[in-house]
Amino acid sequence: MYNNVTHKELLNLLSMDNREREDTIHKGKCRNIVDRIIESIRYRQQPKMKEKGLRIIIVVIVRDCIEGDLENEVFDRLIGCPEIMEHGYILEDWDVENRFQKFWDWYNTILENEMKAIHVKKLSIKLFRDLLYEETENLLWTEVNELLIQIEYQNRCDVFTQEGENTWKRYVSKVRQRFIDTKQFTREPEDPESDSPESYELEYSDGSIHYEVKIEDNVEWTVELLKRKIEEMGGRFTDKDIQRMWDLFIRIELILTEDFLGTFFELMGLSYEKLKDEINEWLTKETLICGICRNRKLPDMISDIGQCKICEQKELL
Ligand SMILES: [Zn+2]
Repeated sequence: MYNNVTHKELLNLLSMDNREREDTIHKGKCRNIVDRIIESIRYRQQPKMKEKGLRIIIVVIVRDCIEGDLENEVFDRLIGCPEIMEHGYILEDWDVENRFQKFWDWYNTILENEMKAIHVKKLSIKLFRDLLYEETENLLWTEVNELLIQIEYQNRCDVFTQEGENTWKRYVSKVRQRFIDTKQFTREPEDPESDSPESYELEYSDGSIHYEVKIEDNVEWTVELLKRKIEEMGGRFTDKDIQRMWDLFIRIELILTEDFLGTFFELMGLSYEKLKDEINEWLTKETLICGICRNRKLPDMISDIGQCKICEQKELL
């Protein structure tokens, strides 16, 4: 159900040009309007989508369906979109570019000793995009490190010296912190916390029933299905442990290996935070990243030329 506020704010949104919408989607005019639209609607069911996801979708609908007359295309793109299913929202290319620009401008201000970031490889945008989806506490040191490696520099610090290595580590930790402080480059670190309601955030009531779905290689996964597969492998874990595996945000393909389950079995007495640290260390030490899809794989899933079997299959087709 909507009311006259919805109607009025929708007209306001239509009166803005696209550039202005894109520039102020996270902060300022567009965000305020869209927040009022979201709040003015009565929902029969709480939206299963994150607030920032709803914001972007409203802007996309206004731009493409109402102004661009592309209703069917947008419908196809939004409904069943794996990114929405997995993360609760989508990132539009313009949004990623705007945020990357913010990152880039800032990044050059922290580099020391004449070092300068001069060129962005295509892969770094992809890595950056992936990082935008990471929930703050899951932001891994290794992933940030990979992003920085994929940038070309002038006067790059020499990481084979102790001093250079320390400098590099400093950059990685500063960038990681910046992601957190700016909420993935959507706000300035000094901005006060947003006062818009958080009620659209995905939330699960008591931890017993989970409708959460992950799409991986076109397979739809639920905690239930994961549990069944683990049992088929002969693994015996409680529901709570299986939920903890799920919450580690690592690929199901990796979870369903003797290596992972064995490691998890040894570590499962630890607190959640400790467990996550240990598993991250395991990922760094025991897995490799496929050069094509960038997914972490066990070494025996990766060929000599550094790509995984799934990517190899795709190339053959
Ligand atoms: Zn691959």
